[in-house]
Formats: sequence, structure tokens, C-alpha cells
Amino acid sequence: MNHFHLRRGALHCEDVPLERLAREVGTPTYVYSTATLVRHLTVLQQAFAQTPALLCYSVKASSNLAILKLLADRGAGFDIVSAGELGRVVEAGGEPRRVVFSGVGKRDDELELALRLGILQFNVESAEELTRLDAVARRLKMRAPFALRVNPGVDAKTHRYIATALRTSKFGVPFEEAVGLYKKSRQLKGLLARGLDCHIGSQLTDTRPVREAIGKVADLYRGLQRLGLPLTHLDVGGGLGVTYTTERPPGLEEYARAVREPLRGLDATLVLEPGRVLVGNAGVLLTRVLYRKKTPARRFLIVDAGMNDLLRPALYEAHHEVRPVRPRKGARSKWDVVGPVCESSDVLGHQRAFPPLSPGDCLAVMTAGAYGMSMASTYNSRPRPAEVLVDGSRYRVVRARETLEDLWRGETP
Ligand SMILES: *Cc1c(COP(=O)(O)O)cnc(C)c1O
Repeated sequence: MNHFHLRRGALHCEDVPLERLAREVGTPTYVYSTATLVRHLTVLQQAFAQTPALLCYSVKASSNLAILKLLADRGAGFDIVSAGELGRVVEAGGEPRRVVFSGVGKRDDELELALRLGILQFNVESAEELTRLDAVARRLKMRAPFALRVNPGVDAKTHRYIATALRTSKFGVPFEEAVGLYKKSRQLKGLLARGLDCHIGSQLTDTRPVREAIGKVADLYRGLQRLGLPLTHLDVGGGLGVTYTTERPPGLEEYARAVREPLRGLDATLVLEPGRVLVGNAGVLLTRVLYRKKTPARRFLIVDAGMNDLLRPALYEAHHEVRPVRPRKGARSKWDVVGPVCESSDVLGHQRAFPPLSPGDCLAVMTAGAYGMSMASTYNSRPRPAEVLVDGSRYRVVRARETLEDLWRGETP
């Protein structure tokens, strides 16, 4: 369900024609739909309404302040992985008390900032991080609420780059070591055991690994409570997939059942860390055709968005639908949609069938709201795209397009 649709022959975001945005804001531009975002958040909140639960949006999926504010205003918490993301949450009006801090490589200054701001919990990913967190907290005469992120060792059946709970993964502590570390934490006066955490991967389309992992983690949680650890929060991570092409991810209701069932009777506030499922199909990347080029082997549509703007195809061989913003009548032909970046992997779509297109025509790269702008770089010294948030028949530029001067800010010749 999303609010990008054809109306009178032109692709719209809600009530705003994408062609108008291309004309008024330029290209490449990320365009987000408020109605889609709010709908996803509301449905997810409703699916967990019977359970004490905190939804912590995973900031790395899309971190524009306007998106964070929209979610914060509607009661969301946040899952962060850096001081930069924490800064964004605070800047957008999010409450630190609803923040969980994930990631395998937190620096001392990041631990300190999060402690001073009073976040809900640190999701600790190694034995050394646990002792470091204790030391930082004691130096500040504070106690750091923590959860251990355990690696339940299940195969999330997703792309190997976004599976995070294989036994060879860098994430979390091995399941078998968790009890020992929680026991040890009782001797560390800077620590307060608050929860238990897992996150098995991203773009999950099957609820079985979710059930399996949560079942294991729930058993561990019960065991830790029996040992007298004062745990109150069970964090089950994020990872629910979206439809890019033919995937059939479970709906939010079905996902909620898969999460809740293994938790029957558990005395815990549930923490969820959804990212992609909230923002994925709430955003598109708007681009223009620059040139058509035919070689003996291929036909190329060269567009003004590249892998620096949307990295997923180059990084994960991810597939995004590419749609003409004003489809013409006429015979379809197949094209490789490529960007201007000097890399052979700079391909947004292979062998896509389009009706006739000309230079200047606009295309929308669909389902680009998650891990789109947040992964954008300035490679090839290309200013990063603008971002626009549409709400009904109005829109706001929520991030100005970078200028050439932005590219070398801070550099000295
Ligand atoms: C990236 C990440 C998420 C969000 O994953 P999605 O697939 O976008 O839902 C949640 N938790 C952690 C720890 C993550 O690293």
C-alpha cells in the first residue's frame, strides 16, 4: 500500500504530479509520501496495540529530520547506530528515553553522549563493549541500562550482505556466552541489566526465522529473569521486508503474530526496530533521462541519478522498478538504465522495457525510501540529491540539493 499512482496519465505522489516536482525542485530528487509513512506506522502500532510495545524506528533506513519528526510526533522511539543519528533524533524532537543504541563499534564519546542524554538502553554487542560501557558510566557516576544483543544463529534467508545472525556474523554475542556475561554484569557497578536484544537481518520475507529466533531469545529472557536479573525489555529488532518486485513479505498483522506468539506470558515490554517496512515504499527517486545510446550489444538510457544517489543496485544487486512519470503510447523496447558515474556497476536497472522515451523525460525509481538517501555519497563529486516531503496537494523541500561549495566544505587547498 502506497500513495504513488497514475492519474490522468501522469505519476503522482499523493496529489502532486512528479513532473511538477522535477520542474520546480530539479532532479535527482527523493520524494516521500507523508500519507504512506503515517499509514505504515499506524498499522504497525495497531498490530502491537494489545502488547506493551515501543516502536523504535531504525534511523539508518532514512534519516531526514522531517521523517524523524513525523514519526516522533506520532509516538515512535528510535534505534540508532551512531552519535550522528542520536543528534538527528534530538534535533527532530525525539525523546532520548525512547532510544536504543545498536552497533558493534560504539566509541567512548558516543557512549558518553548517549548516557548523558538518558537513552532507554545500549544494545551491547561484545564482552569488551560491556566492560567499556561500565567504565564510561562509572567515570560519569551513572549506571548504563543495557541489553545484550545475542546472535541466535538462525539463517534469515535474505541476501548474505544483510543477514546478521549467521554464526559467522560480526553482530551480537554468541548465544552461549550471554548468561555468563549477564552474571558478570552484576559485579559491574556502572551497569544496569534492562533487556535482551536480537536482530537477525533485513528484507525478511519469511516469518519462520523470526519465530525461531524470538522463541530462542524468549527462553533465554525467562532464564535470565529466573536468575534474578531485573530485565524489563525484550528487543526483537527489525528486518521486515518490502516488495521490490515479486517478493511476498508477510503483512504487518502476520508479522505481529509471528513476533507475539513465542512471547506468550512473557513479562516484558516489547521493543521493535522497524526500518525498511516503514519508509521503503514511501519514497521514490525522481530522475531525468539525459541521453539514449545504442551500441551493437545494448541500448542504454543514461539518467541523471547514479549509484552515488542510490547505492542498493550496485551494492546488493537490488532490483527497483523504474517507471516513466508520463508513459507514452507506443511499442516497448528494452533498455539498461545507467547513471553518469564512472563505474560499470552504476546501473539502476538491467533490460527494462519502456514505451518510447526522450531526453528530458522523467523516471521514478520506485521503493527507494529506505537505504536510499541515507546511503548516498558524493562520489565523482556529485552533489547529493534534494529531498521533498509531499502531504496531500502540498510539498516541502526538506533537504536542499547540495551545492558545489558544499562538496569541498572543510577542505584546504
Ligand atoms: C538496520 C537495523 C534495523 C532495521 O532493519 P530494517 O531491515 O530496515 O527493518 C534494526 N535493528 C538493527 C540493529 C539494525 O542494524
